[in-house]
Amino acid sequence: MALIVQKFGGTSVASTDRIKNVAKRVARWKAQGHDIIVVPSAMSGETNRLIALAKEISTAPDPRELDVIASTGEQVTIGLLAMALKEEGLKAKSYTGPQVRVLTDSTFTKARILQIDDQKIRKDLADDHVIVVAGFQGADEEGNITTLGRGGSDTSAVALAAALKADECQIYTDVDGVYTTDPRVEPAARKLDTITFEEMLEMASLGSKVLQIRSVEFAGKYKVKLRVLSSFQDEGEGTLITVEEDKQMEQPIISGIAFNRDEAKLTVLGIPDRPGIAYQVLGPIADANIDVDMIIQNIGHDGTTDFSFTVNRSEYAKAMDILKASGEKLGARGVVGDNKICKVSAVGVGMRSHPGVASKMFNVLGAEGINIQMISTSEIKISVVVEEKYLELAVRVLHKAFGLEQGE
Ligand code: ADP
Ligand code: ASP
Ligand code: MG
Repeated sequence: MALIVQKFGGTSVASTDRIKNVAKRVARWKAQGHDIIVVPSAMSGETNRLIALAKEISTAPDPRELDVIASTGEQVTIGLLAMALKEEGLKAKSYTGPQVRVLTDSTFTKARILQIDDQKIRKDLADDHVIVVAGFQGADEEGNITTLGRGGSDTSAVALAAALKADECQIYTDVDGVYTTDPRVEPAARKLDTITFEEMLEMASLGSKVLQIRSVEFAGKYKVKLRVLSSFQDEGEGTLITVEEDKQMEQPIISGIAFNRDEAKLTVLGIPDRPGIAYQVLGPIADANIDVDMIIQNIGHDGTTDFSFTVNRSEYAKAMDILKASGEKLGARGVVGDNKICKVSAVGVGMRSHPGVASKMFNVLGAEGINIQMISTSEIKISVVVEEKYLELAVRVLHKAFGLEQGE
């Protein structure tokens, strides 16, 4: 008998029929004698709908109120799922994040989980209940409702698995595992039986939305056994995220191609080239809680330099306003930006022992006439920024060039 946390994404609970199917699946696991905690997302499209409602009232909604609104989608699905489980003859009980006491910090819309109180859950489990906990939400010290960022139900599930020392955390979604790239963009993508935490972290952080990055961080830190599976298939082992590289098998050089559309680039032109300048440009951006990704400072000319960086596209306008203000203070020649860019990355631990991956990537993109605007590398990934219109083409040619297609 094991303790298993099962998370079901938006498409898996998109209708009452699908919720009934989830309840049937949970009942099968329960019948095998396992203890089950289920973490549903909101019905697919619901969180978008709620955020759009808020934006009808205010173009820049107050983050605290936005979380009050956005968190309600999951409150609906926990109630529905608990009822469906009871219809299956099981004992079941739903909890919102704040009811459990999923304690988070107060960074509304992207809060971090600090602690989970397991008391009520343990008591109900001992009483043979299936526990249904709302994904995506928690509460801060003051009891304010918070949400964990888009895709945050994955993190709720893994954090619960860590807090309760579950034997496994299963992420049920609309694909049957982690693929070499998003199968929606490249239908020839191949399902991976296993992927290392290190690679999954890179894939997630570089845009592969199959798992929210924080869920992978959590699982790695607390050694949670994490598996991605299809909620529409009864068979299949999905993809296991593993700590160990498979020493038996020769590592492929590249394991996957990740991409992110939600990117924007900002450049401040002609600022003085002197110590401390990076801080003066990026400090105010960080103070506004905007994450900066790639950074490039060009070689200076005549004592001035250009400085570029990328941010999430949703924070482009805010970052632009801040940069214009600081650019003016620094005597910059101007501030320009582009929010029609994307980032495409090749990821693989095998890269460590194989030089030449970057040049192959540049060569392949160049041959297709795709201009590279920015580059960043680490030990196990190479990312390039290109025009958004080239995204699909870039992903497909790289996927093929690195031999990732089915049957290869
Ligand atoms: P859920 O609503 O279940 O959380 P998501 O839409 O967040 O589902 O994540 C599943 C989706 O992630 C898939 O439908 C797929 O389009 C996308 N995806 C992106 N990259 C990958 C990848 N490398 N492997 C599998 N799916 C991926
Ligand atoms: N419902 C939330 C979202 O759409 C959380 C999740 O689905 O994981 O982002
Ligand atoms: Mg998701």
